[in-house]
Amino acid sequence: MDAERVRLLATGLVVADPGRCVQCGICSHNCPCGIDVRAFARVAGAVTDARCVLCGSCVARCPRGTLSFTLLRQWT
Ligand code: SF4
Ligand code: SF4
Repeated sequence: MDAERVRLLATGLVVADPGRCVQCGICSHNCPCGIDVRAFARVAGAVTDARCVLCGSCVARCPRGTLSFTLLRQWT
């Protein structure tokens, strides 16, 4: 694991723009950790489940460009 990934895991998370989400569920279906990403996208906009390993699968597969990575200090 390289230094950049370690830093992201310590300080980053996936966030969603709820205005773009169409609740298709592709993100949840493709999360290798079994996280219901769709539910986070619907209500809060940030995936705060501790099982998230920031693999990027949900970000890459969302057909609406809803999901992105951010740093905790930038998300308040
Ligand atoms: S894949 Fe994107 S549009 Fe579909 S439920 Fe997840 S966040 Fe919403
Ligand atoms: S980044 Fe990976 S582990 Fe985290 S919620 Fe998305 S698909 Fe799941």
